[in-house]
Amino acid sequence: MEFINERLINSLIGDSALHSPALQSEILDKAKDAKGITLREAAALLNINSPELYDRLFTEAKEVKERIYGNRLVMFAPLYLTNACVNNCLYCAFRTGNKDLVRRSLSLEEIRNETEILVAQGHKRLLLVCGEHPKLASLDFVGKAIEQVYAVDQNGNNIRRVNINIAPLSTEEFRILKSFGIGTYQIFQETYHFDTYMKMHLSGPKRDFAWRLYAPDRAIMAGIDDVGIGALFGLTDFRFETLSLLSHAFELDTKYGIGPHTISIPRLEPALNAPAALQPPHAVDDLSFKKLIAVIRLAVPYTGMILSTRERAELRRDLFSVGISQISAGSRTSPGSYKDSGESEGDVDSEQFQLGDHRSLDEVVADICSLGYMPSFCTACYRSERTGDRFMELAKSGNIGKICVPNALATFKEYLNEYGTDESCEIGLKMIEETIEKSSKPLQNKVRRMIERVDAGEKDVFF
Ligand code: SF4
Repeated sequence: MEFINERLINSLIGDSALHSPALQSEILDKAKDAKGITLREAAALLNINSPELYDRLFTEAKEVKERIYGNRLVMFAPLYLTNACVNNCLYCAFRTGNKDLVRRSLSLEEIRNETEILVAQGHKRLLLVCGEHPKLASLDFVGKAIEQVYAVDQNGNNIRRVNINIAPLSTEEFRILKSFGIGTYQIFQETYHFDTYMKMHLSGPKRDFAWRLYAPDRAIMAGIDDVGIGALFGLTDFRFETLSLLSHAFELDTKYGIGPHTISIPRLEPALNAPAALQPPHAVDDLSFKKLIAVIRLAVPYTGMILSTRERAELRRDLFSVGISQISAGSRTSPGSYKDSGESEGDVDSEQFQLGDHRSLDEVVADICSLGYMPSFCTACYRSERTGDRFMELAKSGNIGKICVPNALATFKEYLNEYGTDESCEIGLKMIEETIEKSSKPLQNKVRRMIERVDAGEKDVFF
């Protein structure tokens, strides 16, 4: 656990020299280059507290994000397979100690039905999520679930990338998971603060801090080279958590030459009978939350950053600008809830936590276009073997955009042709045309040819 150096992190948090506005300003100048910043520099930026430096921080983070990822926001939805869990995490409604939760585990047929609903909304990328349970969330079951998801086909409309968020596995089990054809394996440490971790995880296999911390290493050693890490903000000081997340990202990059494919920054939201979620021990206010996202963006410019529907719509709109590159939309966090959802805003008896953004995928699509962001349904990278170091090389050099822009345009056009409402089509088609017009001539020709193929009915056009 040497790379989460609590003593070093605490000394950075307590270092009064890192409160200097002159130093913070110098670091912001350096961060413009999109080459990243050090842990010490990140600690200094986390101390920013003047309106002027906040403005500069947010501006630099936006520019760095746009330099690497452009204005694209990749869309996905979570699919919960079961809310059974043998762990007892004080911030989660699925915890074994919650006797009021209605437990639900999807059958393979129900997984297929839920997938059909999500495909019919226009989704192409799912994140499969489940609690930890030897029988109800076994690796064998996860494999069968993935098979069901990929099997759904509605006239060529299908899920093209399945990412996974499940409990840590052994290296051998990760090899099996990889063979199921997954995209990213995601695992959040929740809190990197050891004492807090032990207080929050009362019982179950999850109490093993190190087993969880080294899960990304085992996944990479098993050949899964797109791994996602994250922390659940609100359990301990947000500066400690941010600096630990960055330490983890730097460690993976140094050890394997591939940093995390994504970083997630969930923040505690109320959850049924989950005391730490109902009264977060270190609640993070909106401004600090925006600050930490911007600092992560400047520290690891190449990494995708994910924002979920935990946050309310109005705040999500604001946070996109400081470095977010992937978002969920139209989400539900209880098993089977897409079927049951209708117009409802969730299922408090069986969901993991309360959502802040209840809008449908198409509403989010229209909204983000109105803010100047391009929704992307692209799933090309892992199918074109642009994973791990190959993806990182493109992202670090800023060249990923040359591939992603055409793919985003083609997949967004496919979405609008199949699922767009009058509102999303009106704003989306205009955005596609303006983006093509602004591109270089060779790119324009390439994209127009791709879009012609989409308009002729071809599905899944990418390069
Ligand atoms: S956070 Fe995960 S492991 Fe903990 S109780 Fe919830 S589902 Fe189980």
